[in-house]
Amino acid sequence: MSKPVRTRFAPSPTGFLHVGNVRAALFPWLIAKQANGQLILRIEDTDQAREVEGAIEIMKETLSWIGISWDEGPDIGGPVGPYTQSERKESYLAWAQKLIDKGRAYADPYTPEELEALRDKAKAEKKPFLFRDYRPDNPPTWDGTQPLRFKSEPKAYQWHDEVMGDLSAGPEAVDDFIIIKSDGFPTYNFAHVVDDYEMSITHVTRGLEYISSQPKYLNLYEALEIPVPILVHMPHVMGTDGKKKLSKRDGAKSLLQYRDEGFLPEAMLNFLASLGWNDGTEQEIFTREELFEKFRLDRIQKAGARFDEQRLLWMNGHWIRQLTLDDLYARSKTFWQAEANNYDDDYKKQVLALIQERLKFFAEIPELTSFFFKDLPVNMELIDGNKQLKKLSHEELKALLEQAKATIEQSDFSASDLTDRLNQLLETTGQKPGILFSLIRIASTQAPFSPTLADTLSVLGRETTLRRIEATLASL
Ligand code: GLU
Repeated sequence: MSKPVRTRFAPSPTGFLHVGNVRAALFPWLIAKQANGQLILRIEDTDQAREVEGAIEIMKETLSWIGISWDEGPDIGGPVGPYTQSERKESYLAWAQKLIDKGRAYADPYTPEELEALRDKAKAEKKPFLFRDYRPDNPPTWDGTQPLRFKSEPKAYQWHDEVMGDLSAGPEAVDDFIIIKSDGFPTYNFAHVVDDYEMSITHVTRGLEYISSQPKYLNLYEALEIPVPILVHMPHVMGTDGKKKLSKRDGAKSLLQYRDEGFLPEAMLNFLASLGWNDGTEQEIFTREELFEKFRLDRIQKAGARFDEQRLLWMNGHWIRQLTLDDLYARSKTFWQAEANNYDDDYKKQVLALIQERLKFFAEIPELTSFFFKDLPVNMELIDGNKQLKKLSHEELKALLEQAKATIEQSDFSASDLTDRLNQLLETTGQKPGILFSLIRIASTQAPFSPTLADTLSVLGRETTLRRIEATLASL
């Protein structure tokens, strides 16, 4: 029987998670889910200087928001914990000792300045710098205060990566590297190999930036006499310009910021999955269940995936349209403007129904709906600056709006009755909808856009509609 699939998401607690970071959690989660395996959350906090207070909580909140769950981790424990690297020092020391005993690790005698000088020398001689060229002949006994270095056995490698294919590298890619720093913490290079083994990780999924170090890790696996897991280097998520990897430095937003702007977790999940993966068809919309079913390692693409916020907006709009009105309303509750509190749920739902079709994210709700909750001041610019309306004089517009008011007054304000009457009015006035309907819409909303006119008036109701039309008439 083959081993149960175990994957891991191993963030360093250095800040919030952006789209690229969460995509790095999504793929291992899908690999595990689909094989009835487990996802392990491991906190890689060995670079204590880079640690950001509160980052772990934010990470967990982010993953939970989009529904990525882990089976073992620092908070829930598990059989191979602890799941935080700073609590696993004993393990690293035990494995480091094994290397020392085999003559495969040594105390690094150089000060940072001496190392720098060696690097400069190599540069001056136009030679690639390899630490192993400067190994000390008689290294001091390691007392825990010096860095401990892996003694590599350089050779050429050929290996397979599930995404990047068959790869190879020459011996120059293998060098001695620090495994335990002088502060007693292991390096990423060492700790992840030890942890992945001790945690029975079957698939190592990580960013492409690590692929050039793979020969070094292969050399370390051999020295430690542990098997190499399945390697899955994921394509970068590129910034909007498609040129550089998405990064906080270049303004990538926290995923929680998208939540706070009213993006739906199912849309975000769908979007993230599409960054570097497709199922080989034209399908773009995937539910979580479909992702469990259809995700395939061999369909992860090699090329970087561009982060296209327009596409995210489109997807979110799609997912918003799928929601029932009650669900949409329940989820949108915190996004309404203060004035909306004066109205009951039923009214707000009617408003929401009118904008559901074109709503892209909830933070747009106040802008799209403000006129449903308060009278906006009459803004003549909307009329005078309107391409169609400016062809008519104010007198002509006034006469037209008077006529419209008389017709609208007759209505029972159901959307269908308003539709009929407005259409009749088109005929009796001989005007184009671009003129007649724009005029009525501007008069009754004072907004440049609104949902369908009859629907809008129906929800606004008789009293508000007529009051606003009168205010505009008085200004014309
Ligand atoms: N801590 C590493 C990072 O945040 C994880 C890389 C890996 O998954 O091995 O980049």
